[in-house]
Amino acid sequence: KMDKDLGQHILKNPGVASAIVQKAHLKQSDHVLEVGPGTGNLTVLILKAAKAVTAVEMDPRMAAELTKRVQGTPEGKRLKVMLGDVIKTELPHFDVCISNTPYQISSPLVFKLLSLPNPPRSCILMFQREFAMRLFAKPGEKLYSRLSVNVQMWAKVSHIMKVGRNNFNPPPQVESNVVRIEPKFPRPQIAYEEWDGLLRIAFVRKNRTLRAGFLGTSAVVELLASNYRLYCAQHDIPVDDSPLDPNQSTTADAETETMDIDGAADDEFKGFSDPDDPDDELPDFFKEMQAAKKVNGANRKKKGRVSELVREKVRKVLEDDTKLADKRARLCDEGDFLKLLYAFNQEGIHFS
Ligand code: SAM
Repeated sequence: KMDKDLGQHILKNPGVASAIVQKAHLKQSDHVLEVGPGTGNLTVLILKAAKAVTAVEMDPRMAAELTKRVQGTPEGKRLKVMLGDVIKTELPHFDVCISNTPYQISSPLVFKLLSLPNPPRSCILMFQREFAMRLFAKPGEKLYSRLSVNVQMWAKVSHIMKVGRNNFNPPPQVESNVVRIEPKFPRPQIAYEEWDGLLRIAFVRKNRTLRAGFLGTSAVVELLASNYRLYCAQHDIPVDDSPLDPNQSTTADAETETMDIDGAADDEFKGFSDPDDPDDELPDFFKEMQAAKKVNGANRKKKGRVSELVREKVRKVLEDDTKLADKRARLCDEGDFLKLLYAFNQEGIHFS
């Protein structure tokens, strides 16, 4: 009996299974991690090409079936089955990861693999088609998103092959693709939380200009201002956070209106906005900020000078330092976001 919640779609086409293992370019000395071995159709092929396999399987019935399948064979001695959720399991070191991935854990698995202290040489992973395509999408392509930039910062991603749904038993709802993810070595020295924090803001609406994304809503400025207050406190930087002159706050209001006009101009890019794109959803902090904004709006006079200072710093970074203010997030590449992060940090603006 198949358990739908575990994404149990057994690969029944032996040609596809052997193509996946072949594309892993295994060496006889390799230790391979297999995620979700199921009944072991990939596992037995990997065991032939590598030195050792650690297979992490959540379903005890599957784990038992796999153990039985290799019992008493010479290969069986080189297989270690770990029972449990791979996301919560402490993993041994391995050279290559191979997985017909249970689709529910696609994103956490990718980030777990990329954040290992000693990342593997490469990962050959099968995903649902759209998720796979987001992994290797380039700036300007429809599926280019926060996931694309994030993953491509830490790894080289390449497409290997399409796999139709009828190669599985039972067939899943959607088609699949196999990708290769090769973590960059040495690992780029960037704080993940900072990088991801910047991308979260930039991709709230990826068709908007960075100016609209960062300055168009007071929620974002307020978030950065509160980070800035914390940063100053931690670094003994004195700040004047006295209440703003009420006349001054009208400047901010005027600016917000300009941003809305900018937003209207985004209509020509409607073809790119994707209601199913999870990156187009507002992150939680943003929703909280919008709720807080109503309260703030009522107390506008109470907003301190730090908000205005931060607004000016952000404007300077976007317009003067990086000249990226008019660029849309969906067209920015990794280099653009790196430039932004560096310039923001130079100004003491942080995202975590
Ligand atoms: N590798 C087999 C194949 O290709 O035929 C099975 C692949 S099936 C798509 C996914 C497998 O992952 C299932 O055996 C399922 O029980 C297992 N699984 C689901 N969630 C898991 C998790 N969080 N950790 C480890 N294994 C998991």
